[in-house]
Amino acid sequence: METRIDREKRIITNMLLLYCRDHHNSLELCKSCNDLKEYTFKRLISCPFEKDKPACSKCTNHCYNKIEKEKIKEVMKYAGPKMLRKFPKDTILYYYYKIKYKNYTVK
Ligand SMILES: [Zn+2]
Repeated sequence: METRIDREKRIITNMLLLYCRDHHNSLELCKSCNDLKEYTFKRLISCPFEKDKPACSKCTNHCYNKIEKEKIKEVMKYAGPKMLRKFPKDTILYYYYKIKYKNYTVK
């Protein structure tokens, strides 16, 4: 079975692919989108909760730095609604992310 981390990786990748295709005219991830993906994966792997990770909205460990957080927020804002149509199976996870980022305040 796919782990939560694997699933999140897959969703992030799909979102970035959509975003990059429409914003950077690229079929593969461009350098900056790929960097963002690597960064996100690293954060996921280093999440101290791993398998028992609670919903990120409840997580007190703020694992994204400000710049990356803004970037990923932008990607999710754009790709989120498109994901619902393209990857309906991931709908629930989309909302999960939406809640996660809604509760984040940028300092
Ligand atoms: Zn790109």
